[in-house]
Amino acid sequence: MATAHESDGALGDLMDPELPASTYVLEPDVVAPLVRRVATSQDAGTHRSTLPFTGAPLAAIPLSSPDDVAAAAGRARAVQRDWSQQSFDERARVVDRLGALVLQRQSEILDLIQMESGKSRRSAFEEVADIAQTCRHYVVRGRRYLADRREPGALSVLTGARVHRRPVGVVGVIAPWNYPLTLALSEAVPALLAGNAVVLKPDPQTTLSALWAAELLAEAGLPDDVLTVVAGGGDVGAALVEHVDHVAFTGSTATGRKVAARAGERLIGATLELGGKNPLYVAADADLEAAVPGVVRACFSNAGQLCMSIERLVLHERIADEFLERFVEAVRGLRLGGELDYTADIGSLVSADQLEKVSRHVDDALAKGARALVGAVHRGDVGPYFYAPTVLDDVPADADCLREETFGPVVAVTRVSGDDEAVRVMNDSEFGLNASIWSGDVARARRLAARVEAGTVAINDGYLQAWGSTAAPMGGMKASGLGRRHGREAVEAVTETQSVVAQRGQRFGLSVDSLYALGGELPSRVLTGALSAMRRLRLP
Ligand code: NAD
Repeated sequence: MATAHESDGALGDLMDPELPASTYVLEPDVVAPLVRRVATSQDAGTHRSTLPFTGAPLAAIPLSSPDDVAAAAGRARAVQRDWSQQSFDERARVVDRLGALVLQRQSEILDLIQMESGKSRRSAFEEVADIAQTCRHYVVRGRRYLADRREPGALSVLTGARVHRRPVGVVGVIAPWNYPLTLALSEAVPALLAGNAVVLKPDPQTTLSALWAAELLAEAGLPDDVLTVVAGGGDVGAALVEHVDHVAFTGSTATGRKVAARAGERLIGATLELGGKNPLYVAADADLEAAVPGVVRACFSNAGQLCMSIERLVLHERIADEFLERFVEAVRGLRLGGELDYTADIGSLVSADQLEKVSRHVDDALAKGARALVGAVHRGDVGPYFYAPTVLDDVPADADCLREETFGPVVAVTRVSGDDEAVRVMNDSEFGLNASIWSGDVARARRLAARVEAGTVAINDGYLQAWGSTAAPMGGMKASGLGRRHGREAVEAVTETQSVVAQRGQRFGLSVDSLYALGGELPSRVLTGALSAMRRLRLP
């Protein structure tokens, strides 16, 4: 990735104090081939994105107007029929190539993801791995998910039903900034494979990663306009909801409610992947040595800016002190940094707004009597938006960080006396996205999981297995969302069933009409007999 300060990718070079405010970090020859893919008539202005590691201007992104969004959706609609009429194999070939290309060209997108989101390279690589995994899964399983189904008709022998899955048409994908590649593609891939066209609206800060994904799809053979990127903020997202047949929204619960309300008025489907306040329980029988690195990752990957990130640590009182001693030591050893390589454990927060929210939650908890076991400081020495990974103990019940999503590297500890109390504490939240249970007895952990109100529960892992199990649905209960991504459910969300029911036996006079032609009470008697027999035979 060429930057204005071409280098070995070290942050020091990007932090040139002489950098004039008007100079963008990314060279025009890197940005131009990407931004030409924005659906824009060039009159909606530009957005200046920022390099989170330094706060320097990163790139100027042309924005789409509401009219541009309408035009993009119109073009998508025009090409969708042809795309849906290609065979499954032809569509799968494009997705398969995308999966191969993303692995081959990973260094480009790793740089771009890091520069737009401020995350560590390892977190960026998780996105590359996720898209390779998603493509492979749907190429292998997609045919089965889309296959016609035979079902018995009203009268088993006389009628037969076939259920077909048809693409809804144009799917709008609205994505946040925290996983710029994953959230651009993870719902677009099943939608495209099912024969839909997609209009994608990324967050303004991470538009280049989404454009790179669009470029890669074109290289993989996706026909023009089958996937289009519109650029802008909430107004562009709201405009998109007006023109699509299904909206796949990932973002905050507050915005999700608005999107759901408008989708409801328009009677279009909406998949809503929203926020969380995810708990992790370490039971008394957990292997603490194995748990510590896993729990560190669960709380601090992507600096906690992860919907599935753990923000509430529920510890059995028998192991709490020993666990915290080891855990805090491991957290203290985490290395913060903004290099475009694998040296840092944790990157930056994405923006001044995120820094403000994280600092506010920590300060509120401390003011109300919480104790910081580690962290609780802004690390301006590393970069303007870095925040130290933070563990808070003795957090009072009215602290904001126990109720609201912090979306940062902050975890609050609660001690419990047993499993029942742990379940009660875990469920004491308006959210229900992800939960994690660490125990030496997986069967026991499964029984506990059945009592936890969360769309995913990871046993002896934080989030990676729950997200990465692409065949299994993922999404939120309660205020964490509606509908599911991944697996069969993602395909079902962007297709509609059509049941085609055929009446057989007409030639032999066995139709419903010939039955009704008997007149009077006789048809009812015959049907009563038939229904009783079907019940005895347990016919479905
Ligand atoms: P956000 O709700 O502010 O924005 C998300 C997207 O919606 C952005 O593209 C934004 O431009 C757009 N948008 C804003 N207003 C809109 C409107 N009225 N109509 C349509 N679109 C609109 O969220 P954010 O702060 O950018 O992202 C962080 C949130 O995303 C966190 O709450 C996090 O938990 C959540 N998230 C959830 C998942 C999941 O799978 N459940 C995954 C990642 C992030």
